[in-house]
Amino acid sequence: MKNLVCAICGSKLHGVSKSTAKTRTRPERLFGGILCHKCVEQVITYKTRVEDGLTKPKDIDIRYRKYVNQLMGKE
Ligand SMILES: [Zn+2]
Repeated sequence: MKNLVCAICGSKLHGVSKSTAKTRTRPERLFGGILCHKCVEQVITYKTRVEDGLTKPKDIDIRYRKYVNQLMGKE
C-alpha cells in the first residue's frame, strides 16, 4: 500500500485509485493522486486570477505555480 500524500500540503489522499476507468470526468480530478482536493481548488483559483489579470504568475506561491502552469498549458 502506497502512502499517497498531497504534493503541496502533505495531507493524506483518501479514496484515490489510479486504476479506475472513470478518469477525467471533472476538472477537480486534475492532479488526482498528486494533490488533495483543497490544493487543486487553490490551483484553479490561482489560474483564474492569472487569467483575469488579478495575479501575476510570479506572485503565485512557488509550491502552486508549477501546477498552475501545467493547468494553463493544457488549454
Ligand atoms: Zn493539499
